[in-house]
Amino acid sequence: MWSRLRKKRLGNKFRRQHSIGRYIVDFYCPAGKLVIEIDGSQHLDNQEHDRQRDLYLMSLGLKVLRFWNSEVNNNLEGVLARIMSHLPSGSPPQRGGEEHIKNTMKKLAVLGSTGSIGTQALEVVDNLPGDFDVVALTTNTKVDLLREQIKKYEPEYVVVGDEGKRAELVAADLGRTQILFSSEELIKEAGADLILNALSGVAGIVPTLEAVKAGVDVALANKESLVAAGDIIMKLAREKKVNIYPVDSEHSAIWQCLRGEKEKEVKKIIITCSGGPFRGKKRDELKNITVEQALDHPTWSMGGKITIDSSTLMNKGLEVIEAYQLFDVTPEQIEVVVHPQSIVHSAVEFADGSIKAQLGPHDMRIAIQYALTYPAHKPSPAEDFSLTDVARLDFEEPDLEAFPCLAYAFAALKAGGTMPAVVNAANEAAVMLFLDGKIKYLDIPQLIKEAMDKHEVVAEPDFAEIMQASEWAGKIVADW
Ligand code: MN
Repeated sequence: MWSRLRKKRLGNKFRRQHSIGRYIVDFYCPAGKLVIEIDGSQHLDNQEHDRQRDLYLMSLGLKVLRFWNSEVNNNLEGVLARIMSHLPSGSPPQRGGEEHIKNTMKKLAVLGSTGSIGTQALEVVDNLPGDFDVVALTTNTKVDLLREQIKKYEPEYVVVGDEGKRAELVAADLGRTQILFSSEELIKEAGADLILNALSGVAGIVPTLEAVKAGVDVALANKESLVAAGDIIMKLAREKKVNIYPVDSEHSAIWQCLRGEKEKEVKKIIITCSGGPFRGKKRDELKNITVEQALDHPTWSMGGKITIDSSTLMNKGLEVIEAYQLFDVTPEQIEVVVHPQSIVHSAVEFADGSIKAQLGPHDMRIAIQYALTYPAHKPSPAEDFSLTDVARLDFEEPDLEAFPCLAYAFAALKAGGTMPAVVNAANEAAVMLFLDGKIKYLDIPQLIKEAMDKHEVVAEPDFAEIMQASEWAGKIVADW
């Protein structure tokens, strides 16, 4: 009487249009067709999409039952019982088993899976079995780690950015995984529900844009995307109804503080900043800083470039621009406060003077996880944390004389157009020179300043003009 449970995809066009593609599961029975919709999203913004999809399914003569991912994962028997109550009596429907569950998982692509954010994201995935199906992974050069990840996650696709390193991955390493040649290609092929962009630097910008164009939600750790091309990316995301979920801890904090609030009631957003390893030092004392000293960050464990950026406060500068793009505020509504304990991850002040802050341990996996599981706060791999472990919370103003990079970022934001892209690319090139031992620590802000002074801003640039300005700035600094 019953056919086996079958999985079936809604047409790609429909999935793309509504950005949250899911599988549907059909039960065939004499009474007609029943569609069981398993949806990972309980986000309010998506309810309109859900409603439209239900109407669409009903217009096809289907009866629709909707369940959340969590219900299926935690209470499959209950879900089946509810399905049964909607069916005429007879033999019970067959369960699809493993495959059925797999199809309720969020299909996740991780760009930069061997980096600091990427590996921590995979720890989050490991900790939430049943929630994510890792469909694609990418690395630039770390083939050995990627090889292990392929074995463990069996993604459909991988990309190795570096050509020489790509050759090290042999057929036996790949199994059924296919190798593709660019993140752009991977985004088109992978059919992901969510793309985590954990690429570092300017290289992450195009993949963000491609993901948005493809209508796929992005968990964004690549801050350069919004710093350099934020105007274009956010506009397109709004048009395509693509969600950009911040991974950066500060922006995750602001996002959480804004939940359920009206952005027009925001007086300002307060981005906290650890102050980096040289907090309290005067400009003179920074002259002879070595690479090793700058790489030793007091609270957060991160990749090389971002650690240097944290020490110069350029990281905070880039975050200011990123926040401007993510949230509906003016540059004047963004305040940076140095908070050495890094427990308050950021805060929002509302019109009435009330301040909401988000607090927690310094474990990036919490912010990464929230971007992946939003709107759910699920158990995370972070260690237990108590506010009583924190003796005190200090806040102070940033020293813009010792750390001018932060002021340059604000200036670039106010100048607009191509200037943020120039500051970003000039900084990236200068940091690389510093890490290579080619320039001194204080040359970093100096070279950024010189690039800004030489740049003629293009107002309302298109994407090509942004990339040109980035390239120009990188070259100006590299040729120094
Ligand atoms: Mn941050």
